[in-house]
Amino acid sequence: MPRLGSRGDLGQDVLTGQLFISLLNPAIGLAFAAAFFLMWLQRRERYVAYAAGAYLATAIAFLFQDVVPALPMELQRLPANIGFLATGMLFAAAIVGRYGLPIPWRAMAIVAALSTAVFTWFLLAQPSIPARIYTISLGAGVIALMVVRALWPIERRHLIDRLLFWVAALSAANLIIRPIVILTFSGGFDDYVGFQQSLYWTTVQFSQAMVSILAAISLMVAVAIDMLAELRAEADGDPLSGLFNRRGFEAKAAAMLRRCADEARPVSLLIADLDRFKSINDTHGHAVGDAIIAAFGAHVRAIAPVGTIAGRIGGEEFALLLPGAGVESARQLAEAIRTGLQAACADRIPATLCPTASIGLVAGAPGDGLSRLLRDADQALYEAKRAGRNRVRAFAPAPVLPVATRV
Ligand code: GH3
Ligand code: MG
Ligand code: MG
Repeated sequence: MPRLGSRGDLGQDVLTGQLFISLLNPAIGLAFAAAFFLMWLQRRERYVAYAAGAYLATAIAFLFQDVVPALPMELQRLPANIGFLATGMLFAAAIVGRYGLPIPWRAMAIVAALSTAVFTWFLLAQPSIPARIYTISLGAGVIALMVVRALWPIERRHLIDRLLFWVAALSAANLIIRPIVILTFSGGFDDYVGFQQSLYWTTVQFSQAMVSILAAISLMVAVAIDMLAELRAEADGDPLSGLFNRRGFEAKAAAMLRRCADEARPVSLLIADLDRFKSINDTHGHAVGDAIIAAFGAHVRAIAPVGTIAGRIGGEEFALLLPGAGVESARQLAEAIRTGLQAACADRIPATLCPTASIGLVAGAPGDGLSRLLRDADQALYEAKRAGRNRVRAFAPAPVLPVATRV
C-alpha cells in the first residue's frame, strides 16, 4: 500500500499537500508539549505535566498514523490509536487535576483497554476501517464525557472555568458525533489510501487541530490565572496567622465596605490586640509568641462567619471586617474570640502561657471609610486596654456638647 512520502499512483503535489496536513497535528502537539513542559519547570503542578504528556502523546499518535512507514498487518495502527486514547486520558487528567478533583484513572483505563481490545479485533480478526474508527472515537469520547461529568457540579465562576468545561463538552461531541455523521454520509472506505484521503480523515485532522489549539490556549490561560492568584495570595497573605496581611486586609476590606454601602448592608469592624505580648516574647521566646499568633489566626478562621475579612495588621494586632453585622453581633463575635482564645492555644503551647486579648469594635455608619472605622475601633481598643485589658469595648462617639456649654 502506498504510504505518504512514497510516490504510489498519486501526483507529487497531492502528496506534498497531504504531507503538510499530516504534519500539522504532530507539529502542534510537539510545540504545545514543549510549552507545557517549560511551564511545568516553572510551576511543578502535576496537571501541567499531564498537559505536556497529552500533547506529546498526540504528536506521537499522529506521526504513527500518518507519517511512519507501514508495518506488516497494519500493526502501526495499534500504537497510533493507543496514543490517541492516552492523549484523551492525559488531557482529562490535566483538566480534572486542575480542580484538585480525583482523576478517574481506573474508569479511563478500563474504557481505553476495552477500545483497544475491540480495535485489535477489527484490525486483525475481522478487518474493518469504519468499525475501528467508531471504536477509538467512541472510547476517547467516553473519556471526554468523564471530564464533563467531573466538572458538572463545579461552580463555574470564572470565564476560564466555563471555557474548560466547554472544551471538554466540545471534544466529547466531536469524538462521538463526527464518525457517525460523516461515515453515514460518505460511506465506508475500500482501503487505507481511500481512508487517508477521505473527507473523514481530513475532518479529523482539521477539527482535531482546532480543538487541540483551543484546549491548549484554555489550559495555558488557566495556568496563568492560577499563577496570578497564587502570587496575589502570597502578596496579600500572612503565612504565620493564615489571615490577610495589612495590605491584603486594606484592599479586601475597602472593596467590601463599598459593596456594603451599595447594598445598604450594615457592617462592623473589630480590632483585637493581644495583652502584654511583649513580656511573653521576652520571657518565653519568640517561638512561643509566634505559636500564639498562629493559634489566634486559626481561632479566628474557625469561628468568624463566612464573608468575614480578617487580617493581621500589626505584630500582634488583628482586624476583622464583618459584613452584615450590627454592633450586637459584632460584640458577640468579639466575646467569642476573647473567651475561646485559651482553648484555641491549648494544643500549641502550655495553657498558662496563653495571653488574653483586648478588642475594640465599631459599627459603621453610612459613608464611613475604612480609615475612619479603623481609627474608631482603635479608640475603642484603647478604652479596653485602659479599663484593664481582657475585655471588649464598642466605640462610643464623644457626646456633642450643647452650644451653651461650649462657649
Ligand atoms: P499591650 O497589652 O499594651 O498590648 O502590651 P504588649 O506587650 O502586647 O504591647 P506592645 O505593643 O508593647 O508589644 C507588642 C509586641 O509584639 C512587641 C513584639 O515583641 C511582639 N511582636 C510583634 N510582632 C511579632 C511577631 O511576628 N512574632 C512575635 N513572636 N512577636 C511579635
Ligand atoms: Mg499587645
Ligand atoms: Mg499591639
